[in-house]
Amino acid sequence: MRPDILNPLFAEATVLSGVGPAVAKALERLRLTRVVDVAFHLPTGWVDRLPREELMHTDVGRTIAIVLTPREYRVGRSPKGPTRVQATDRLGNYVSLTYFGGSSGYVKKLLPLGDAKQVSGRLDQYGQELQIIHPELAETGESLRAREAIYPLTEGMTHRRLATLADQAVGRAPILPEWIDRSLKERRDWPDWREALARVHADPADAVARARLGYDEVFANQLAMALVRQSTRARKGRALAGDGRLRDMLKLPYALTGAQARTVREVEGDLAQTAPMLRLLQGDVGSGKTLVAAMALLIAVEAGAQGALLAPTEILARQHGETLKRTLGGLPVEIAVLTGRDKGRAREATLMGLADGSIDILVGTHAIFQEAVGYRDLGLVVVDEQHRFGVAERLLLQAKGKAPHLLAMTATPIPRTLTLAQYGEMDVSRLDEMPPGREPIETRVVSEERLDEVVNALGRHLSEGGQAYWVCPLVEESEKSDLAAAEARAETLRRRFGDRVGLVHGRMNPEEKDAAMAAFSANRTSVLVATTVIEVGVDVPNARLIVIEHADRFGLAQLHQLRGRVGRGGGTSICLLLRGSALSETSRARLALMRETNDGFRIAEEDLRLRGGGEWLGTRQSGEANFRLAPPDQLADLIACAHDDARLLIERDGGLEGRRGDAARIALYLFERDAAVQLLRGG
Ligand code: ADP
Ligand code: MG
Repeated sequence: MRPDILNPLFAEATVLSGVGPAVAKALERLRLTRVVDVAFHLPTGWVDRLPREELMHTDVGRTIAIVLTPREYRVGRSPKGPTRVQATDRLGNYVSLTYFGGSSGYVKKLLPLGDAKQVSGRLDQYGQELQIIHPELAETGESLRAREAIYPLTEGMTHRRLATLADQAVGRAPILPEWIDRSLKERRDWPDWREALARVHADPADAVARARLGYDEVFANQLAMALVRQSTRARKGRALAGDGRLRDMLKLPYALTGAQARTVREVEGDLAQTAPMLRLLQGDVGSGKTLVAAMALLIAVEAGAQGALLAPTEILARQHGETLKRTLGGLPVEIAVLTGRDKGRAREATLMGLADGSIDILVGTHAIFQEAVGYRDLGLVVVDEQHRFGVAERLLLQAKGKAPHLLAMTATPIPRTLTLAQYGEMDVSRLDEMPPGREPIETRVVSEERLDEVVNALGRHLSEGGQAYWVCPLVEESEKSDLAAAEARAETLRRRFGDRVGLVHGRMNPEEKDAAMAAFSANRTSVLVATTVIEVGVDVPNARLIVIEHADRFGLAQLHQLRGRVGRGGGTSICLLLRGSALSETSRARLALMRETNDGFRIAEEDLRLRGGGEWLGTRQSGEANFRLAPPDQLADLIACAHDDARLLIERDGGLEGRRGDAARIALYLFERDAAVQLLRGG
């Protein structure tokens, strides 16, 4: 239950005065539905209004505040055209106040002729005339402030209105007990929470107050994860001590890399404890995570338990199933695959085998954690491509079995500090060494205007027996246009290369996807046009060319993963990044970085430096580590600091018990990180 003290903040935003239906709509568009949302909708800067008595051409481009008298309406002939109000300053100089899209009646009511009014806005030049577009008007009896905080806006909302709403929201904010460690607070000179909130709204440039608010949010996030960790570790699982008999039988065509061997040892150590393992394995695409997973699963089976391998997609689940069967072929280990597609008798047989223990290892999509699926003795869960799953899912899957050990794997190279934000409750292993003989992928950035040359290069590649991926642009608006782009590209390529061109996209049903993948895998198709569904895990060693359209629209992590689809067999692989013509400095730098290095960890760190943490922790990357208050450029520092603080609170200072613990609990609810805690209590 949310502490009562927070109730005023969690009331509907409509309790604030001045919020009628129209304002409420605008607030909703900004996703500010509760008082707390308004309070946390922070200003992004200032607008400075130059106070002026007279209109001057030298002020063009500046924001001025001036008293003007409306003299004449000029309504355009077309109803959609702008409404212009000719107004004069005290000397009779003219300016046009221009309104687009509204009705002229509305404008006339706003600016009755002859009534002097204080007006503010950016002075523009329109032909010979001066004009102000959509000026702000002082309310009757008030004057416009020379300086005002500006907020992220939507239609029907003004900075001033948001400021008054924020004012009220801050007014409703209670004085909360302090959850920050006292010495930390002193060291950073941070104000109390409520004061910090008031200060940021009053002065958008108040970096100290802003850092405090950001810290609170990050702290709540870290605390939630520390609690998950504590409670998971406190559960008594069972130690899985493998005797090595299965691993000894394993005949690998290669030796483990140093990083693989080290990670397997770390996993082995964790499994030998009764406290359930919570380990994240980070390893670049191609670094050999599957083998580590296989070894971990073998240890579990040696110890008499069952293991499960969870994959985010159907394709990947089947591919993992096959890889495991091949790698562990000849070992007395029973492996089964279960996905949402398996129905009827085959599914029944798998469920039986799981229940009676004749199946040792189950590979599948999240179908393997449905209620109907009962294990005889599930000891280890391996989750591949962990970034697709959130904390809640991580917890849910652990509810199966008796506190099974968890190994999560991700190929998304996340900067070290941000790893804490997303996986703060876990221990981390890194596969920072590639299997030998990997040739680096040659990456080139090519202008989209040279598409013809790219298609020619593709033609040469195919005529030499090669295969290639062609990734279609990420279209932001909708999945639909994603699809359209992919279909159109497949069409044009087919005109040249015939039915050697396959297509796979997210809207296909699983059978169609598998069929397209299988055809490519078996070299029945030579080019696979794809939306980002090939992002994870797919393995076709003969594909040595990848073309990525509109590469500048992809995140670097995603580009890096896509690129990792090639370079899996021997020989040189090539990645062509097609770029649009108008690129920002940052986009340019980011693509250059892709060209320069194949090291995913380095790409991650540099991208963090180039773009700040916000992008990484956007909703697309992860549900829970989504910060709205923490300033992106300070995120890394705040996370590291909050991580230590949260762990100390739990491990040394009594957790949520005691005075500071009570305060920290309030922070969890304030930032809505209580879901994790609830789940724990329920489970
Ligand atoms: P990822 O980490 O992307 O999941 P995979 O597990 O799919 O990588 O491994 C990529 C490729 O590297 C596979 O073809 C695998 O057989 C091979 N591989 C894994 N470990 C080694 C090793 N120690 N030496 C040589 N090749 C290896
Ligand atoms: Mg993999």
